[in-house]
Amino acid sequence: MEAWVDSLLTWYRANRREMPWRGHPDPYAVWVSEIMLQQTQVDTVRPYFTRFLKTFPGIASLAAAADEPLLKAWEGLGYYTRVRNMRKAARTMLERFGGKLPRTPAELRTLPGIGDYTAASVASICFGVPEPVVDGNVARVFARFFLLRDDFSAQPPRRRLADRLRPHIEASGAPSDFNQAMMELGALVCTPRRWVCESCPLRAECRAAAEGCQADYPVSKAAKPLPLRKADVLLLRRPEDGAILFSRHAGERLLGGFWELPAKTGCPIPIGRPRRLMVYHQTFSHFRLEMTVRTAPVRAAGPLPEDGTFRWETDLSALPLTTATRKILGHPQRP
Ligand code: SF4
Repeated sequence: MEAWVDSLLTWYRANRREMPWRGHPDPYAVWVSEIMLQQTQVDTVRPYFTRFLKTFPGIASLAAAADEPLLKAWEGLGYYTRVRNMRKAARTMLERFGGKLPRTPAELRTLPGIGDYTAASVASICFGVPEPVVDGNVARVFARFFLLRDDFSAQPPRRRLADRLRPHIEASGAPSDFNQAMMELGALVCTPRRWVCESCPLRAECRAAAEGCQADYPVSKAAKPLPLRKADVLLLRRPEDGAILFSRHAGERLLGGFWELPAKTGCPIPIGRPRRLMVYHQTFSHFRLEMTVRTAPVRAAGPLPEDGTFRWETDLSALPLTTATRKILGHPQRP
């Protein structure tokens, strides 16, 4: 084993943070945590992880989950395709893998929502398979360590880095700790704008630290500005009791199945002249949203189509709402 690998493992064993999924004996729980941790911070994930395992304690209960409790368990975590893919993957595990997580990265990658990174992390952490994880954090650390000038936002350089790391993880004899150490180092010590080289276990052999050029790595292409999408929605109250009208987002993708304020075009009930209340902004991974919220007097509150419902604000706990809707309802500017 190389000296830097030994130093990395020693550092990890002394410094790892406690996490509810770390050391969990059930591969299902590790998989749930890995999916939740994609694009999401550890501290945000903690309460979701515990609640999710209570609601869906295993592969069979997840495979049988109905839409609303499933989306409710994920509400606020974003990137909802993740949880829909998990349910599909759980069904595939029941059909093809005897109701268990498969053990090899190649089999794991055949499941919906599992790419190279998640396959490597689940296979190494749960089954001790020596397959290196390479995400943005790990790539950043090694771009500095080896002085690599690749653009790691693309897959081919990530795969080349995994190939380069594979002999080291094999020689380490501890694939789970090796990978988790790399993730931990990228999160705590060698972060995008801050590098604490004096407490880093890789310091002795790190080329960026030796040359003082940490800020120049990894090399990144200039980010393109995100496109802007505009939306017009209505906050409508039933005249007799003040209940708010919601409509269900159609389709399977992104927000399908979630409830939200109805769009101004195609409003399902007759209303008077709309008046502007506020403009709400949200940034997603691929676009920026500018949502104008209007209100209007409701002339007649029914009948509603199947994808429409009136709810009191005190009765929203079981209804999966989009993040934009929840934020608008809780917004201080909202009358
Ligand atoms: S020594 Fe510094 S630059 Fe090198 S990996 Fe560690 S924290 Fe990053």
